[in-house]
Amino acid sequence: MFDYLIVGAGFAGSVLAERLARGAGKRVLLVDRRPHIGGNAYDRHDSAGVLIHQYGPHIFHTNSREVFEYLSQFTEWRPYEHRVRASVDGQLVPIPINLDTINQLYGLKLNSMEVEKFFESVAEPRENVRTSEDVVVSRVGRELYEKFFRGYTRKQWGLDPSQLDSMVTARVPVRTNRDDRYFSDTYQAMPLHGYTRMFENMLDHENIKILLNCDYREIVEEVDYDKLVYTGPVDEFFDFRYGPLPYRSLDFKFETVNQEWVQPVAVVNYPNEHLYTRVTEFKHLTGQEHKKSTLVYEYPMAEGDPYYPVPRPENQELYKKYQALAESTQDVHFVGRLATYKYYNMDQVVAQALSVYARIVGQKRAEASRTTLAVPTAAAVAAVTTTVTATVATAARKERRRAVGGTRKLAKGA
Ligand code: FAD
Ligand code: UDP
Repeated sequence: MFDYLIVGAGFAGSVLAERLARGAGKRVLLVDRRPHIGGNAYDRHDSAGVLIHQYGPHIFHTNSREVFEYLSQFTEWRPYEHRVRASVDGQLVPIPINLDTINQLYGLKLNSMEVEKFFESVAEPRENVRTSEDVVVSRVGRELYEKFFRGYTRKQWGLDPSQLDSMVTARVPVRTNRDDRYFSDTYQAMPLHGYTRMFENMLDHENIKILLNCDYREIVEEVDYDKLVYTGPVDEFFDFRYGPLPYRSLDFKFETVNQEWVQPVAVVNYPNEHLYTRVTEFKHLTGQEHKKSTLVYEYPMAEGDPYYPVPRPENQELYKKYQALAESTQDVHFVGRLATYKYYNMDQVVAQALSVYARIVGQKRAEASRTTLAVPTAAAVAAVTTTVTATVATAARKERRRAVGGTRKLAKGA
């Protein structure tokens, strides 16, 4: 008998599994249909031995001390400030657009005040900043919008920026100083031994059983549990009752090269050339030393694994209908980027999961994210059935075989 069946072993599911087990002594079965934990943050060594992020570059950054301290229980950190260059007009220039971007692009020697005046002279003021086009054009004008944002956004989303909520391009600031960091959050770091190791540490608890390669629908009728935490796509949970919610997908093409470094920074964006949007060289992120280097090219796709909710008003309307259904479904908590249809970063998902946990146990979030029971209850340990233990052992064996056999895919349920 489990207290909670948790669907999805990404940040949302793993934080809740950890909290419910370690904080509240609950017995948890954590299920994922992928052959690994970590969700989209999963990382692993490729066949050349380079640590890669299987689902694209994941850079940790947050302004929340609480989130940072919570995760710090499970990992040490490597200080890392993310820097990105954009390939524009035959040059690699800093993005977010800053003072150096403008000087480099136009061969100028402006200072901060002058560049602010320059932006003012080219900006097209908007009364209402509603769309992703409005955000950029009203700040830096049409020419820079077209050089940096229009093409990239059309590739990434299959939509024109004028069709997307302002929050999409508003993620990327504009600066008048020389700060070329992609993020300006207080905490910026990468898990020292990778994300997967951090997840392993989170989930290393006697009350947590993990079942991989398993869609929860295959077992939901067989398992005895009290409540459900669901972190998969919300429309899928309700069998697409109101029609599918649009998600954007990506195809990741990895390339390992026989040279130590390829790019000057971790990520190079290609707003106007190529079918891919950006190229990431992982060793910049991970700090790994290796004679070879692995890069990933991201090709946006309409079909495939759901990676990005698509922020625009009509999708929000559709989501609201699913949200109403979710709220009226008893004993099920919907958490995470897919289940709440929010373009959330990892830290926002952690914060959301900690809030859900705090509500469950009736504590304030700050308190709930810290409480740890001294030892798991004997009853909880004894209650883990032999059947599930056996299944879980099989899943663990499969995961080990998979790890040993590199990227070889296991047939579902094989
Ligand atoms: P997921 O990680 O998607 O986990 C959900 C899990 O549920 C999946 O493993 C899935 O297999 C499982 N699941 C779904 N349905 C079922 C089912 N029926 N049965 C069993 N299992 C199921 N955030 C940052 O903060 N910084 C970054 O740099 C960053 N870069 C990103 C780059 C890319 C390309 C993408 C796609 C995302 C990026 N993110 C980044 C966002 C980050 O990935 C998410 O915020 C976070 O991983 C979401 O966690 P989650 O648990 O909500 O969802
Ligand atoms: N964007 C752009 N050009 C860039 C970088 C970003 O047009 O060089 C836009 C694009 O629409 C992108 C959004 O800003 O989807 C958010 O960028 P971010 O780097 O945050 O995307 P993510 O890492 O979430 O894919």
